[in-house]
Amino acid sequence: MRNEASVNHSERSRTERSERPEENGYDGPAGMAPGGVIESNWDQITDSFDDMKLREKLLRGIFAYGFEKPSAIQQRAIIPCIKGRDVIAQAQSGTGKTATFSIAILQQLDMSLKECQALVLAPTRELAQQSQKVLIALGDYMDVRCHACIGGTNVREDIHRLEQGVQVVVGTPGRVFDMINRKALSTRYIKMFCLDEADEMLSRGFKDQIYDVFRNLEDSIQVILLSATMPSDVLEVTTRFMRDPIRILVKKEELTLEGIRQFYVEIEKEEWKLDTLCDLYETLTITQAVIFCNTRRKVEWLTEKMTARDFTISAIHGELEQVRRDVIMREFRSGSSRVLITTDLLARGIDVQQVSLVINYDLPTNRENYIHRIGRGGRFGRKGVAINFITADDSRTMKDIEEFYNTEVEEMPMNVADLI
Ligand code: ADP
Repeated sequence: MRNEASVNHSERSRTERSERPEENGYDGPAGMAPGGVIESNWDQITDSFDDMKLREKLLRGIFAYGFEKPSAIQQRAIIPCIKGRDVIAQAQSGTGKTATFSIAILQQLDMSLKECQALVLAPTRELAQQSQKVLIALGDYMDVRCHACIGGTNVREDIHRLEQGVQVVVGTPGRVFDMINRKALSTRYIKMFCLDEADEMLSRGFKDQIYDVFRNLEDSIQVILLSATMPSDVLEVTTRFMRDPIRILVKKEELTLEGIRQFYVEIEKEEWKLDTLCDLYETLTITQAVIFCNTRRKVEWLTEKMTARDFTISAIHGELEQVRRDVIMREFRSGSSRVLITTDLLARGIDVQQVSLVINYDLPTNRENYIHRIGRGGRFGRKGVAINFITADDSRTMKDIEEFYNTEVEEMPMNVADLI
């Protein structure tokens, strides 16, 4: 099991490293460049899946899924992951991080062993389910057994599924830890541990749960962290449990987020936001749209108001029962519902390719979530538009966001619908 010794090991390797950013006059943690991005220490690129020496059935799965060429993060991160290195991969939303860890996992599985060999943790049930589906699809020809181990589902059924033998578990921390505790999930053969949305997983609410799981893993575990954002304090804690990690940053210029046009609409009073949203409704339904509010109550309130005015809208937040959440996600993914109001529950990771418009009905309360939210639109290089509703109180926050991301948010033009 991972213990203090391994902690010391990685601490040592950290301080021994020669290329320290401090030497460039920056005094953040090692591996961190200014501006909230990590410093890459890896520049090898493999620009075709054929050249990655993947197992044949996996390669077939990748092509059958419709991927032709690896994305920037895939070109850089898949190989070190397959080599068994600890990896921190930072790349913008919608650039293919899920397939990065999925391919790395599928390549390393011993298919003759019907035991769990890879564990992926995600911050929300929806994201865990989505990643499980990607793993199953890419591993279609390998007959991989992959289970989503998430809260809000039947515990006994979960245990039963695990007993039948699964090779990859994608889950949320609470349920996964529960399964480990109940000895329903054996950690003995788990050799890969991935944290999707790693900064979220290692901050506030989740950190202790992650450590609880981590303590049960073997000493030799390979750790892979992925996120679009990586605040420096989070990078600092990774030194405690990663061994000489490869750090890969796909920089902003190479990112598809550039395809997302960002606008603001000034709205004098909070009460008038509702009218503004109704005026925009037709634009919302051109393809599909996600509307973010900061609280569950606000989501419910807005849904009620819109429905009362005869607009078709669906809504999701973390207080709904899982069965209901599943139905809402299914309807939205299939396109039968087109406008979804939500909290930051869906800020991260959720991939619905048809979403081309994101509305911040409320500006996010943390800077990281801004980029995650607007990243729900414009997936994989598609066009996307983000519209921020700002009252007088918000203008400072909007400025902060613009500065932080070194980006410009323009006033929404009349012809915004043409941009979608
Ligand atoms: P991230 O995890 O970085 O936010 P995802 O892994 O969800 O992004 O990928 C975003 C979208 O891009 C998904 O719909 C995925 O199917 C698609 N995608 C990922 N990699 C490729 C690729 N190499 N070629 C084509 N589409 C891809």
